Amino acid sequence: PGMLAPARETYLAAVAIGRRDPATGLPRAVGLAWADASVGAFACAQWSADDLPHALQAELARLSPAETLVSAAVARDDAPERAWLRPYTLSACPDDAFEPESARIRLCRHFGVATLAAYGCERLPLATAAASAIIQYIERVNAPLLALLSDLRAYDTHGYVEMDAHVLRALEVVEPAHAVEGGASQQGATLLATLDATRTPMGARLLRRTLLHPLRDRATLETRLDAVAELVERLSLRQRLGPLLDGLGDLERLAARIAQGAAVPRELLALASGLGRAPAVVQALADCAATALGETRAELDPCADARDLILRAVADPAEATGRRLRAGYSADLDALVDAASETRQWIAALEGLERERTGIRSLKVGYNKVFGYYIEVTRPNLARVPSDYQRRQTIATGERFVTAELKEHEAQALHAEERIAALDGELYAALLAELARSHARLRRTVGALARLDCWLSLAEVAVARRYTRPQLADDAALEIVGGRHPVIEATLDGVEFIANDTRLDDLAHDDDPTRAMLLTGPNMAGKSTYLRQVALITLMAQVGSFVPAVRARIGLVDRLFARVGAEDDLARGLSTFMLEMVETAFILRHATARSLVILDEVGRGTSSADGLAIAQAVIERLCSVTGARTLFATHYHELARLAGTLPRLSAWRMEVAERDGQAIFLRRVVPGASDHSYGVQVARMAGLPADVTARAAALLSQ
Ligand code: ADP
Ligand code: MG
Repeated sequence: PGMLAPARETYLAAVAIGRRDPATGLPRAVGLAWADASVGAFACAQWSADDLPHALQAELARLSPAETLVSAAVARDDAPERAWLRPYTLSACPDDAFEPESARIRLCRHFGVATLAAYGCERLPLATAAASAIIQYIERVNAPLLALLSDLRAYDTHGYVEMDAHVLRALEVVEPAHAVEGGASQQGATLLATLDATRTPMGARLLRRTLLHPLRDRATLETRLDAVAELVERLSLRQRLGPLLDGLGDLERLAARIAQGAAVPRELLALASGLGRAPAVVQALADCAATALGETRAELDPCADARDLILRAVADPAEATGRRLRAGYSADLDALVDAASETRQWIAALEGLERERTGIRSLKVGYNKVFGYYIEVTRPNLARVPSDYQRRQTIATGERFVTAELKEHEAQALHAEERIAALDGELYAALLAELARSHARLRRTVGALARLDCWLSLAEVAVARRYTRPQLADDAALEIVGGRHPVIEATLDGVEFIANDTRLDDLAHDDDPTRAMLLTGPNMAGKSTYLRQVALITLMAQVGSFVPAVRARIGLVDRLFARVGAEDDLARGLSTFMLEMVETAFILRHATARSLVILDEVGRGTSSADGLAIAQAVIERLCSVTGARTLFATHYHELARLAGTLPRLSAWRMEVAERDGQAIFLRRVVPGASDHSYGVQVARMAGLPADVTARAAALLSQ
């Protein structure tokens, strides 16, 4: 456990590539499975050609697996699918590890069932193949972990808002965009860090997973929001739950260590002490109104039997008896311990008895590794040594002896220690096996605690930062009043964050709904911040969080797209114009009328004439054909004239005041188009020498 990051999962994944369609050269389907043996999570999914490769890549981006198993054929450098898996550490398995029929048989054998129907993957041969590859691999490298993979969940990513790696990076959901290798400078600047007030590692992991899996289903989200809302409203409930979760520890991984047969006494006691708090949590939730809180309470089985067993059985490691089980747990063990201690007492008393018997006052009983116990007599007293002493060793100051009785006791003591250790080990293993049978219940309880921790965190941050409950809608409108960027707001200490509104209409709204915003403004005016804030508020609403806005009405989105133009992305070192266009092409091909698209300075990677032309064509397409909700930011203010000609598009600009030739950024989004780019003013703010900026200003007016 000490080698794993506490607040995130470490996944082993497997990708099974199906047979290629000769027409397209692409696989007809792909399966993915993943496992986190530290908690016993095991799941699989499958996608058909329509979703490939983006759905697979998006899922891998969320999981960010530590190791990914593929067949030897896919691991080869020239395999076309290898490119899909480029960023991941691949391990090649024999090709037959992914053969669907033997995979099905292996999985059935692993679970001890005749059909996989109960696991939901009966009709998912490639998901099954991937899951089986994981089982086979773990069997080979660490068989005891297999016990943990006692359940498999087939899932469908279509229930989640699809976000690819670009979106995760552009929005800095769990990782800062410009994370420098090894540098921790920007650690705090992510959505996760802003929302994370969790108190337990399993709660922190759940929050991370939650943010990576925004949902499309309104009913589920409302249930979550009800829970968060009740916690927001009831200070006393928060105050009761907080201390109960504080310092609870990683019960999820502790429970898994039991199932794995690896838990040490300290871990069992930590689990027992954590479980000891469950009844109080149940009680605190007794009068909750929110359905989800009620369900959580119902799932919170304090596992009193497991806890009692641990407390009855496990010795306090601080007593350092060398035994794992406490006195009173096993009569057999106690008898052995008593016998051993009698023997030790006999040996301890021997010195006194022998001094008396022989009259040798300096006689000593000692122990060394080579000869064991001995009686030592100094040279002047050797004449008084009794006849039953057997000489063993001569030393400078005298002689060392043993007696038959001493040897016998010594053998007894040794034997007793061995038997104690053996029985202690045997009983402890049996205890773990007994506890392991409660693993499923323990997991459910721990899962409930994690959920509570996660919701409490969302509620506490909502209160502290004055977030409000979003109104969710099934239409495709988006309306935010007084929206703020949750992360920037939290990092601007002292400076006020300027809130802004957003309004995009549903397509059915009237004959000229606004579906896209074209936002112009100089560099540094706040365009990127605004775009991201709209996307982040949407994402937050769709994970069931309150949002940083006075009021928000979110028509649920099916997919989030974000493309950040070349220059803004240069720090990644991989932005070329080509890449930018590949990604834009992807958005144009996959966005729907329910999607939210954010395009920040797209078209920058080429000359401004090209860039403008491309940007205009892209916007036209998104607005008129796709109808996706789109926010497009650019410092090319020339683009804004588009707004006059395109239906569904409205032009906005970042308000800038000018005083004595200085640009003052008001950070307010106002209607209209920016008329110039304030490049010279920005250059002056950046510290370009005054004569240079003066010359530039003169050239500009010329
Ligand atoms: P642009 O994309 O127009 O160049 P950014 O969005 O990167 O500008 O914003 C530049 C900086 O301005 C941000 O890092 C932030 O510190 C500040 N900022 C942006 N929007 C706001 C706002 N609404 N309130 C306060 N500060 C803001
Ligand atoms: Mg920008």
